Amino acid sequence: MDRTAKTQRARSFLLNSLSLRERAKVRVKSARAILFVFTFLLSACATSPIIPVVIETPIPSATPLLFTPTPRVVTATPIPPTETPILVPTAIPLERAQYTLYATLDYAAKTVEVEQSILYPNKSTNMLNDLLLAVEPNFWANGIIFHELSLNGAASNYILDGQRLTILLDTPLEPDQSVQINLRYTLNLPFAEQGDPSVMRARIYGYTNRQVNLTNWYLFVVPRQNGEWLLPEPWHFGEHLAYDVADYEVNFKTTDPAVVMAASANAEPNAEWTRYQLKSGRAFVLSASPEYKVYSQQVGDITVYSYYYPIFEIPAQEVLNVSIKALQLYSQLFGAYPHKSLTAVQGDFNDGMEYSAFYFQSHGFYNTYDGTAQNYLTFVSAHETAHQWFFESVANNQAHEPWLDEMICTYSERLYYETYHPEATNWWWAARMFDYNPTSWLDLHVNENPSERAYWSSTYFHGAHFLEELRARIGDEAFFAFLKDYRTQYDQKIATGDDFFSTLRAHTDIDFSDLVTKYFRAAH
Ligand SMILES: [Zn+2]
Repeated sequence: MDRTAKTQRARSFLLNSLSLRERAKVRVKSARAILFVFTFLLSACATSPIIPVVIETPIPSATPLLFTPTPRVVTATPIPPTETPILVPTAIPLERAQYTLYATLDYAAKTVEVEQSILYPNKSTNMLNDLLLAVEPNFWANGIIFHELSLNGAASNYILDGQRLTILLDTPLEPDQSVQINLRYTLNLPFAEQGDPSVMRARIYGYTNRQVNLTNWYLFVVPRQNGEWLLPEPWHFGEHLAYDVADYEVNFKTTDPAVVMAASANAEPNAEWTRYQLKSGRAFVLSASPEYKVYSQQVGDITVYSYYYPIFEIPAQEVLNVSIKALQLYSQLFGAYPHKSLTAVQGDFNDGMEYSAFYFQSHGFYNTYDGTAQNYLTFVSAHETAHQWFFESVANNQAHEPWLDEMICTYSERLYYETYHPEATNWWWAARMFDYNPTSWLDLHVNENPSERAYWSSTYFHGAHFLEELRARIGDEAFFAFLKDYRTQYDQKIATGDDFFSTLRAHTDIDFSDLVTKYFRAAH
């Protein structure tokens, strides 16, 4: 991908042009000058929306002390109090990272002021010399303006390059030890223009004329896989991010009281803030609009929401009903739903997309809904709900093994129809597989597909056919016991294709090697 090569060449040029000593002395003023020149040079030779910047903060004179209570940095804007636990050396190791955010959305200005702290435990078996955080808002020029970045209360060296923010640790982080990262930044939201390939990444994150969507909007430490940080580059379609599970406390407010918020958790009052708490989640999302209406229904201890625009009452009720029925079916088949809410939101764009306890539904499907179950609105709602088990509970590398979640979620649509609308199952196979090309492999990396349609064909449709054949071969009992066990074993983890097949083989002695050869490029 030549965009990546250009980024890397430019980055090495800038880094190599400064000696270590010089880099240590770079101050904000000169860094800004370098950034300006660098941005200019890049914009002269590339049309990519990715703006790599490299800023190095001065090395602090005192060595940061790990695991000491750290005072919040006093700034012109008072930092709101948080309930962040104070780390001490004898503290019980954290199970997972803790994210605390205070964010204020200026709906008119399309900016978000964010105060964020991350308590990050090293859950690997190796010492870490750096941390890699994903900074998706940095895909847009001036998309993020940093005001503070500190590690255990001290200024920290870091390198910001496109979506990658590397924090260099002066003292290696031992397994099960934790660090606290404090961040303060302004997000300048991009206009989520539709249909222009040069701004494709703005499709969801950002704003439209009637919606603000905060997806992948905060910084997060990316997972480690095979001893490496896992942060693939984005492609023209599909998804590229992988997420560890983490606990979130998000405190949010908007400057406009008429704005209605949809989020990845139930809203609770917290003085001037609205607080959302999500345990063991992967991607906390908010969506705002002054025009939203909402239907909601309680299902046991889970509240299901369907946010929509006026005049779309009937399709919005279908989204609510399908989400509830799918949630009940998949809870039986795959095990308990992992959160206390599930929120579906009518996107102001034509795509469905899953996040933690949340999904966007394509605007176009509300327009074409005809009141029956034989609609894209119905099966895509079932699909996105299934992602709460395969994406949210069991994650995977979405860039390299997108088939792992998409295959099962597409087949889950078939399970929805055979349970609730068996008469429409044949319709679903025909309507869903509209452009099915069975000559492709199903285990391609997302960027190996020549087009988005080819990606759907290989990953989603070929995947559903594989599972249909596999189920017929090994029988329903083994098939469903396998799926439930796969979910249970890899809950809160990032599974691989090898994990999928080793779990499958534990549930059947029947030979299905010819199916693997037929559908998979890799040997399993
Ligand atoms: Zn999907």
